[in-house]
Amino acid sequence: MATNRTFTMIKPDAVEKGHIGGILNMITEGGFRIVSMKLTQLTVADAQKFYAVHSERPFYGELVEFMSRGPIVAAILEKDNAVEDFRTLIGATNPAEAAEGTIRKKYATSIGENAVHGSDSDDNAAIESDFHFAGREQF
Ligand code: ADP
Ligand code: MG
Repeated sequence: MATNRTFTMIKPDAVEKGHIGGILNMITEGGFRIVSMKLTQLTVADAQKFYAVHSERPFYGELVEFMSRGPIVAAILEKDNAVEDFRTLIGATNPAEAAEGTIRKKYATSIGENAVHGSDSDDNAAIESDFHFAGREQF
């Protein structure tokens, strides 16, 4: 099942700026079906756990503070080749390097505050989806 699914968050910077609708439109226009979605907020502990893989990186503290500072939209998306195709749709981590037509090119402001998350593997898509949604919410 995870093969055709990925997990995304619209990050606090994009929610604060009113970009939920614009980003969801790019996602659905890109051929992704929304199978789970909610407006929620990460606690500091949630953000530390979600990004534990980056705990040794110099930006970890800044990342945890950013990701817990306000509401996010969490969603599970479905499409053939979902993980790879969604990474293409969001663009490079640093918006200065993101291709034209990508979500980060349009909505990200910096390498840290880059508007959206996308899972980097099928395994992580499943782990991240289960972190945010109960099985009965994954339609
Ligand atoms: P991606 O989200 O593109 O998979 P990474 O997994 O490398 O990128 O990093 C996770 C998140 O950490 C990024 O989306 C961004 O919010 C933040 N981040 C990455 N690199 C930096 C950096 N050099 N400075 C500040 N924040 C960063
Ligand atoms: Mg990543």
